[in-house]
Amino acid sequence: MRFLQPDLQGMTDIDQVKSLLATPKQIAIIAHRNPDGDALGSSLGLQIFLEKLGHVAKVVMPSEAPSTFKYLPRIDEMTVFDLKYDDARAVIDQAEIIFALDFNGLDRVDKLGENISFSKAKKILIDHHLDPEPFDDYRFVDTGASSTAELVYLFIEELGEIRKMDVEIGTCLFTGLITDTGSFKYATRPQTYHVAAQLKEIGVDDYGLQDRIFNSLKEKHLRLLGHCLAHRMTIIDEYRTAYIYLTKQDYADFKISRGDTEGIVNHMLMLSNVDMAAFITEQPSIVKISLRSKGDISVQEIAMKHFKGGGHKNASGGAMYSKLEHVVKKFEDIVPKYMPKVVV
Ligand code: 5GP
Ligand code: MN
Repeated sequence: MRFLQPDLQGMTDIDQVKSLLATPKQIAIIAHRNPDGDALGSSLGLQIFLEKLGHVAKVVMPSEAPSTFKYLPRIDEMTVFDLKYDDARAVIDQAEIIFALDFNGLDRVDKLGENISFSKAKKILIDHHLDPEPFDDYRFVDTGASSTAELVYLFIEELGEIRKMDVEIGTCLFTGLITDTGSFKYATRPQTYHVAAQLKEIGVDDYGLQDRIFNSLKEKHLRLLGHCLAHRMTIIDEYRTAYIYLTKQDYADFKISRGDTEGIVNHMLMLSNVDMAAFITEQPSIVKISLRSKGDISVQEIAMKHFKGGGHKNASGGAMYSKLEHVVKKFEDIVPKYMPKVVV
């Protein structure tokens, strides 16, 4: 794991990053579009840490954060490209250092990818996705990490600055741990629990966070889930696969907005006879697919090869400019190529 890359000149990469951070800098932190708890938590946690080192650090997101995360410190100060695109571009253009968090390719940050490519700033990637593109100068990448939040903690440790960790930073990072592991159910490793333990030790309210994040549904969310499970779920028994689709009409009927469908895909994996699940949604101009799997079954290749996406072994996603029914048909056709046939 960890630091690869460029002109070593007798220093290790971590030393180069330390010397970059040794004097106050203008820093931009950016994570992926449709930011989740890990994108938000790791970015805001890193921002607060960098400010404690004396830097001017600003967080930019391509699109808005779900309201579930409004408790995160400093979330109201983030610059959102969809709302203020000139301001967002300016944050990137004026930065001397850009931290890219929780994404592996510039297409994940929409138009801001252009500003990042053209920027002369030093670019530091902190991420846990498979196959990162080489747009960075330094990288702190570990695909075995549960979350980018876990890596931000380890990055701070590696810099020798762990005494700067406090409850505010910890609250941000713990949010990333919880959301990317489904409350420590998957993608964990010993270090995940080490980081969680250290954060609890300094006073992070873990139960409070679990409650805020998972018991925050509105009535429409639960009714939508009921609709999905009762009327929109197909189970392909012989391939241990299930999928749910939602139409534009469903979006209108249930007044669904960004973030409202979060987590629905995981319910299908609660079935003992299902090892892979897909959630296919008809958006205004694209059809988005979210894929999940259990254990050794990988959905990353399916997302990459067939839906121009990617992600992790057990959680990936992608999209197509196509009709909903074509995407559903395409998924049904692909399943037998990836899943072993079982006798039912
Ligand atoms: P979700 O299904 O929750 O949207 O995403 C699951 C995982 O797949 C996330 O880690 C996310 O980074 C990745 N992912 C989702 N959509 C895309 C996409 O369009 N492109 C790529 N490269 N990754 C995606
Ligand atoms: Mn993540």
